[in-house]
Amino acid sequence: MNQPPDNRAVSPLFRVFGGEEVRVAADARETSNSRGMHLGEYRAFSVLIPLTLFVAIGAWLSSMLVTIAGWLLAIPIAILALNILPFVLFAKSPLTQWRMWSSLCLLWAIFHCRSAGLAGLFSYTWIAMMVMGVVADCILAFQELMAFPGKCGIVWRISAVILLHAAAIAVGFKFGWPWGIAGAAAIAAGLCWAVLNPYCQWLGPVYRTTSRDEILITIDDGPDPHDTPLLLDLLDRHETKAIFFMIGEKVRAHPEFAREVIRRGHDIGNHTLTHPAGSFWCASPWRTWREIAGGQQAIEETVGKKPRLFRAPVGHRNLFTHPVAKVLGLEVMAWNRRGYDAVEKDAGKVLARILPDLTNGDIVLLHEATPIAAEVLAGVLARAVKLSHGKITD
Ligand SMILES: [Zn+2]
Repeated sequence: MNQPPDNRAVSPLFRVFGGEEVRVAADARETSNSRGMHLGEYRAFSVLIPLTLFVAIGAWLSSMLVTIAGWLLAIPIAILALNILPFVLFAKSPLTQWRMWSSLCLLWAIFHCRSAGLAGLFSYTWIAMMVMGVVADCILAFQELMAFPGKCGIVWRISAVILLHAAAIAVGFKFGWPWGIAGAAAIAAGLCWAVLNPYCQWLGPVYRTTSRDEILITIDDGPDPHDTPLLLDLLDRHETKAIFFMIGEKVRAHPEFAREVIRRGHDIGNHTLTHPAGSFWCASPWRTWREIAGGQQAIEETVGKKPRLFRAPVGHRNLFTHPVAKVLGLEVMAWNRRGYDAVEKDAGKVLARILPDLTNGDIVLLHEATPIAAEVLAGVLARAVKLSHGKITD
């Protein structure tokens, strides 16, 4: 069970429920395809498997010998089995060992789920994990299907929603309408969660953090003739690069500021053509296409460079954002730090939300075209530079 974890989960259970995060593209692609183990997964199984083995052997021996002697004898036998059996079975790789032991534990659990005491408790734990694993498998299969790009993806997504509602109607017919309506309400709630929660991964991957050794500053809603030059000077002074998520119409209105951002070595991301903050979450496939492709075209025509990152207005994606983004070669980026600087008037309050626990790998969401843009960026940069020099004191 000596597995150096590389923080990517192996079991569907941990891949879905274990808090594994998708990382920013460049770094994620450089990692090898062979998965190690997620740190949490490694810890959980390296405690659970030896304990289950001890309980399985102890329960069996204590039913044949005197109770205490049985349990005492179970300790060395469990330790020996953990070390010798993989060797006998030529299961060299720790990952194979982990898979072998979990399958054996599960098999044991199925035969002992009616037992009393510790054996019953451990059997139930393994069976509950198996059920959650199946659910996780279904979620992974669903995400896999959701990954279709373009028209195919859009048709699939519409079909999935229709099928889910048909299932709710079938439930209504079979078990009564309160159940049917509850099913439809659950589908609606799930959809709302998936589109309105900027971090939800159900509809496609969204980057929240990076594996870079620095803080990634992202500045939305520009370019702005007043703020963009100020922010660029601030970034230069701290020798920091940022990603500006720009609105296509504003890029067309102030092309010189968009070009200046590129000239100074920063990156530009697509933040739609018109920034329909209140209605993008429920936009049709055609409108979604117009907004994202329109933003892409405006930026490319102005600065001569195709954005590779997309951010939805207010982080609210819709059912069709991911297939459209994929066709346009875009990946979707969210953030994990924000201070609500687009609505808050007090820069101190914004910084108080962003700065505590700010750490390398975080993606910070800031805005321009607000009265406090420069003040907030200055505060974040002061902290970011401290972090990068490793001398944070407060
Ligand atoms: Zn925005």
